[in-house]
Parts: sequence; C-alpha cells; structure tokens
Amino acid sequence: MSGDSPVESAQSYDVLIVGAGQAGVQTAMSLRQGGFEGSIAIVGDENELPYQRPPLSKAYLRGDAEVGEFRFRSAEYWTKNSIEMISGITVESVDVDAHEVLTENGLRIGYSHLVWAAGGRARTLAVPGANHSGVFSLRNHADAERLRVSLVDARYAVIIGGGYIGLEAAAALAQRGVTVTVIEVQERLLARVTCPAVSDFYSDLHRAAGTTILLSSGVEHILGENDHVVGVQLSSGEILPADLVIVGVGLIPNVEPLAAAGVVCSNGVEVDGECRTSAPDIFAVGDCANFKSSFSGGARVRLESVPNAVEHGKVVASVILSLPNDVKAPPWFWSHQFDTRLQTVGLQAGHDEAIVRGEPGASKFSIVYLRSGRVIALDCVNSIADFAQGKLLVEQGTPATPEELADTTIELKSLATRAA
Ligand SMILES: Cc1cc2nc3c(=O)[nH]c(=O)nc-3n(C[C@H](O)[C@H](O)[C@H](O)COP(=O)(O)OP(=O)(O)OC[C@H]3O[C@@H](n4cnc5c(N)ncnc54)[C@H](O)[C@@H]3O)c2cc1C
Repeated sequence: MSGDSPVESAQSYDVLIVGAGQAGVQTAMSLRQGGFEGSIAIVGDENELPYQRPPLSKAYLRGDAEVGEFRFRSAEYWTKNSIEMISGITVESVDVDAHEVLTENGLRIGYSHLVWAAGGRARTLAVPGANHSGVFSLRNHADAERLRVSLVDARYAVIIGGGYIGLEAAAALAQRGVTVTVIEVQERLLARVTCPAVSDFYSDLHRAAGTTILLSSGVEHILGENDHVVGVQLSSGEILPADLVIVGVGLIPNVEPLAAAGVVCSNGVEVDGECRTSAPDIFAVGDCANFKSSFSGGARVRLESVPNAVEHGKVVASVILSLPNDVKAPPWFWSHQFDTRLQTVGLQAGHDEAIVRGEPGASKFSIVYLRSGRVIALDCVNSIADFAQGKLLVEQGTPATPEELADTTIELKSLATRAA
C-alpha cells in the first residue's frame, strides 16, 4: 500500500505503528521476533522503505554510501513477516475513543494498540531569508538528497548550529573540499550536551580541517539573489558568502495529533516506564517520547538517539507480548566526525565534576562525569575500552575519586567491582 495508490476501505490492525523510523520499525521487528501473531501495520509519511538516519550526515553526505545500503530490511522482509507498510501517508488525527487514526487521504485505520513513533521535525530559523532555496535542514533522506545535489557546485557552506548533526555535516562537507563556516550562538560547540573540554576538542578538530568556527554568534539575515541563498549576515553585521546553508538548530517532536486528542504532551509525548501514554492502548517511542529516566535521577527526558529508539521499541513489544521488560541499560549515543568517534553513555546533565581521563591533545580521552562522587556518565573520544567499561560504572552508579578516574593506568572495569 502506498501514497501513490490511495486505499479505499478502512482497515484495522492489532498493532498500528505511526512512523516508519528507527523506533517504529524496531517495535514491529521485536513483536515478530517475540512471536506476536496479530496483524501489524506501519504508516509512514516518507514514500520509501524505512532506512537508518545516522549515515545521512556522514557517509551519505560525503558521497560514500547510498540509501539502499542502510535500509533496515528489504521489501521481502516486511512481506514475509506480514508487516504491512503503508508508505507516503501522514496520520492527521487520532480518535482515542474509537481507537482509530485518520490519514491525510481520508482513510480511517483502527487499532487495538497504537504506537506513536513519529519522531520530530527540524526546527527552522525565524530570520528573513530562511526560506531561500539553498537553505537546508537535515532530518530525512529527501533533505540529504537535495543537499547532496547542491553540494556538487558549492564552494562556500554556512552551517547554523554547532550540535552533533551540524558538526557531522561540517566534517562531511570539509572532506568534500567545501569551505565551511559553523555559526554557534552559544559560547562553545555542543554546549547543551557536553563539557567544555569536549567542546574545545571539537573546535580544534574542525579548525584543523580548515573550518571556521564562530562562537557566540547570531544570524540576522539569510541573504539571497533570485530567492537563492548567497550569504549569511551575522548579528555583528559581518557577511559570510554561502552557496548553501544548513540549519541544524534542533528538533521539534511530532506530537500534535496526539496532543489534539487529549494525550498528555509537554516536550514530547509523556510516557511511563512502559512507554504508555495517558491514553488507553497508546504508546509513544523514540525521539518523540518524554519519559522519566532512572539515569537522570527520575527527571523527565526526551532523548534523540538510535539506542533510545531501539530500546523503546523493544520495551513496547515486550509489554504487548506480556513478556518481562527488564531493560536497564543506560542511554548511549555516538557521533562520527572525520576519523574521530565519540561514544557517550549515561546522562551528564546535573553533574558536579567532570574528570578528564587521557590526552585530548592525542585525540584519545574520556570525560567521566560525577554527581555526589558517583559516576553518572562518560564521553569517550576514540576510547572504546573506556566506553565499554564505563557503562558498568554508570549502570551501578559506582563511587570513584577524581584521582583514580584520571589515572589511565587504572582500568575502569577494576572500579566496577566495588559496591555501589
Ligand atoms: C542526520 C541524522 C544523523 C543522526 N546521527 C545519529 C548518530 O550518529 N547516533 C545516534 O544515536 N543517533 C543519530 N541520529 C538520531 C537518530 O537517527 C534518531 O534518534 C532516531 O532516528 C529516532 O527514531 P524515531 O523512530 O523516534 O524517529 P524517526 O527516525 O525520525 O522516525 C519518525 C518517522 O515518522 C514519520 N512521521 C512523522 N509524523 C508522521 C505522521 N503524522 N504520520 C506518518 N508518519 C509520520 C517521519 O517522517 C519519520 O519517518 C541522527 C539523526 C539524524 C537526522
């Protein structure tokens, strides 16, 4: 079934998943792996088989991979496993009482369980010129494809936003020989998600590749000629030439149809530890789900990462299958820029100490975050062993001193045997 051939009669499914991204696909796959025999459909607004997003800002943008290489599964898999893909169709509203969703083409689809896996959309910039052609977001395959086409003739690129996606794109463009400037409104890169030592490391990494990093800089105006971008004017008045602009200033969770149906939403759809929303038989998973994490001291969080989406999908499948749901792994994330691999585990917000372990100058180090003397998170740059062993410390909330954490002759796993 696809958006090209609108369906005529209403259907109903035991599990209806809205959103054919990481979390939605994982839910369906885990249900089948767990032996679920009921009917499953995934409605997604992108008109293609589901694919992984991380390569879009890395290998795909560099021109080193095509989307066919990172689809989750082949068309045969979905058919063979009786998972119906309803592609190219947007769900516009949810009728909680009738247990139905309504699609943009007027189809009513019933459900016994609804899994809301709608992710988010790229936040846009509220400045004049933001709609010029040549101004891109980077959220999905269509965005990345348009961007990659425009790269062929591009000499100057301006990236607005020094978060992970902006920096990955900056690395890919620099590797393609484009002259890149990254504009960040905060006083350091990645300010929301990491500590100053990691921010400084990434500034140095990108500057060494020839990229200009402008910190504490706002954008006033995106300049165009014949509606196509030609430059970016900063709040300081400075004008940067640009053949293309990438706006990477965050994500807005896609919650509106659920919120309109009365489901409790704040920054995302609020869910409990089993990903249940406030409405009966409706779950929310992945980037759009807002949940209380034991790794944030019970505070609500909304995480944008593949491992989080995968875990949510597995949790919901277990709940629907009435299987024990004992996933307790700490959140983790990775980013790949040039030859540098960052792996993070745990949630660093609320830390009171950040211990540097190893040598940032040698491009191999970790930051261990402590709260009240216990390990709550790590950022590991090219330090696979610290990442693997640090997970245990985060899981257990291991007590450790700054001195022993900074000492690279002490393996982190040797601290994990300690009572938490
Ligand atoms: C360029 C890029 C690079 C990334 N790199 C990394 C990385 O290196 N490491 C990492 O851990 N994470 C990375 N991420 C984040 C990761 O991809 C996301 O956290 C993950 O995809 C979230 O999965 P999701 O299913 O919640 O949402 P998504 O994957 O966004 O899927 C949601 C789907 O729902 C669709 N949809 C939305 N509304 C509707 C509707 N009303 N009706 C029908 N369909 C709808 C959307 O179009 C989309 O297809 C990256 C993300 C991007 C964009």
